[in-house]
Amino acid sequence: MFPVVELNHVAHVYVTDREASLAVNDLQITVSEGEFVSLVGPSGCGKTTILSIIAGLIIPTLGEALIYGNKLEGPSPEVGYMLQQDYLFPWRTIMDNALLGLELTHRITPESVEMTSKLLEEMGLAGKEKFYPPQLSGGMRQRVALVRTLATEPGLLLLDEPFSALDYQTKLQLEDLIVKTLRARDKTAVLVTHDLSEAIAMSDRVILLDANPGTVRRMFEVPDNIRDALPFDARDQAGFQELFHEIWSEMDSTSV
Ligand code: ADP
Ligand code: MG
Repeated sequence: MFPVVELNHVAHVYVTDREASLAVNDLQITVSEGEFVSLVGPSGCGKTTILSIIAGLIIPTLGEALIYGNKLEGPSPEVGYMLQQDYLFPWRTIMDNALLGLELTHRITPESVEMTSKLLEEMGLAGKEKFYPPQLSGGMRQRVALVRTLATEPGLLLLDEPFSALDYQTKLQLEDLIVKTLRARDKTAVLVTHDLSEAIAMSDRVILLDANPGTVRRMFEVPDNIRDALPFDARDQAGFQELFHEIWSEMDSTSV
C-alpha cells in the first residue's frame, strides 16, 4: 500500500523563554492509503504535536515528515484537520462556515458549492444552511466542521478528539457517520482519542504512545471482523474485549 504519512525518526523540541522540552522523540510512524489509525496514550504524550507535524503546522526539530512522499514544509491542501472544538464562526451561516476552507483556498466554484450542499445533506443538515452555529446542537456543529473539512477534498483527515465535547449518544452516532463517510470516499485518517474503545471500534490500527518524551510504545492491528463492522457494532464483535484488555494492560503498565 502507498504510504500517505511517513514520520522518519521525528523528534520535536518546544522552546519557550524558560526552557526547551523534548515533546516527542524518535517517532517512526507510517500510515497507508485508506487506513484509519488511532493514536492513544496519556495526556501530554505528544498526540496533538504529532497531528500538528502531519498537518505541516510544526516542522519537526529532527527527522522528516512526508505526506504522499513529499517532505512537509508547511500546511498542504492534501490534509484536512478537524479539532476538538468545532471552531465555527458564529457570525457566518452554516453554509458559509462549511465553505470556509474552499474560500480560503480560492476554490469556490458552482461545483464545489454544490458538493458542499450535498455533504451537508448527507450529514443530516439539509434545511440548516441559513442557520447560525449557536442555533445548532453540539453534534450538529461537529458535523458542520466535518463537512468543512471534507469540502476541500483532502486525501488525509486528522481528527483531534473530535467527540470529546459531545454526549455519549451523539458521539456514538457521529463515530458511525464519520467511518461510513470516510470509507465511502477511501480517505486516510489519523484519529487522536482518549477513549480506547472508540479507538478500537473506529480503526484498522491503534498506536499506543508513551509519554516524556512521546514515543511509540506498541502498535495493535485490529482484527478484520472488528474493523469491517461500523463502530457501534464493532464493540459487540468477538475479540473486541480481549483487544481492549490487551491494550489497557499495556497502558496500565506505563502509567503511574
Ligand atoms: P497530548 O496531545 O498527547 O496531550 P501535546 O502534543 O499537546 O500532548 O503535548 C506534548 C508535550 O509538549 C507536553 O508536555 C506539552 O506540555 C508540551 N507542549 C505542547 N505544546 C507546547 C507548546 N506550544 N509550547 C511548549 N510546550 C508544549
Ligand atoms: Mg492533545
